[in-house]
Amino acid sequence: MAAPHLHPLLDNGIQQGTGGFAGGKLHCKCATDKVEVTLTGDVVHNHACGCSKCWKPEGAVFSVVAVIPVDNLKVTAHEEKLHIVDESATIQRHACKSCGVHMFGRIVKDHAFKGLDFVHVELSPEKGWQAPQFAAFVSSIIEQGYDPKGMDAVRGRFTELGLVPYDVLSPPLMDALAGYTYAHAAK
Ligand SMILES: [Zn+2]
Ligand SMILES: [Zn+2]
Repeated sequence: MAAPHLHPLLDNGIQQGTGGFAGGKLHCKCATDKVEVTLTGDVVHNHACGCSKCWKPEGAVFSVVAVIPVDNLKVTAHEEKLHIVDESATIQRHACKSCGVHMFGRIVKDHAFKGLDFVHVELSPEKGWQAPQFAAFVSSIIEQGYDPKGMDAVRGRFTELGLVPYDVLSPPLMDALAGYTYAHAAK
């Protein structure tokens, strides 16, 4: 049986990052007047995500999304084309109004991950970004119509690629969320 199609950055094997990559520019998919976002430095926690909110390229089952400190991200062209997809979502995803690509996601409410922006490095022509490290929210693809019978093959493919498949986030990120909850609980 053919391996399930997950995402273009995963399907042909993962290209490892150079480590401490200097950064680069992300562009939306518009033919002209592209929105440009400049990232200073490498991303961290890059991962495949099966949730329904993250932007994914046409035909992909998973998105590939990473984070970078807010101070390392600047919109450097055509900011006027950006809009927030859902103001009520924890992550405010800033998308191009013309082509729909999500250029970055930002958390403005108090949250463990506030201060980190969510980005898709496949929008950059530069090579050397941190490679995907794990797969998150794998079971969520069923909510979007993926055949549950295909899940063993999906998880098996991630394992073959060296990415541990989780149905939430990775343990370090879940620990960060839980630690934040404890630190902010009424005592
Ligand atoms: Zn665009
Ligand atoms: Zn997601």
